[in-house]
Amino acid sequence: MDCIFCKIAEGTIPSRKVYEDDHVLAFHDIQPQAPVHLLVIPKKHVASLDDASPEDLELLGRAMLAAKQVARDAGLTDSGYRVVTNIGPDAGQVVFHLHLHVMGGEKLAGLNPKNSSESDTRPS
Ligand code: AMP
Ligand code: ZN
Repeated sequence: MDCIFCKIAEGTIPSRKVYEDDHVLAFHDIQPQAPVHLLVIPKKHVASLDDASPEDLELLGRAMLAAKQVARDAGLTDSGYRVVTNIGPDAGQVVFHLHLHVMGGEKLAGLNPKNSSESDTRPS
């Protein structure tokens, strides 16, 4: 299968790894959209969250916990961060191997571009 993230998981395409275990890999996004922009992938090929099945339950949990860990290791825990997965064309998914974007290191724009003047709800 010609999947770039499977090749990264196999090690045949290089990546800047920040975390790896038997099931999950995390590495720097090659075109960061925030000061910290990491990707967490399951090593098993799952095209998107929409293709996940009940047998992937534990794997999805592992990926979420890895996202928390790499965010912590990157120093994002106190300032906050975003974990996003794009699914299909309207979300702009371009790599069809499930991945979690972990983004932070600055105040991130609101999720709704039509409402970009959202106030900061963090306690001062
Ligand atoms: P998505 O639009 O959710 O499918 O995001 C795919 C992400 O993968 C984009 O943010 C790309 O910059 C990133 N990406 C593509 N190829 C690589 C690569 N070889 N190494 C690291 N990140 C990559
Ligand atoms: Zn794949």
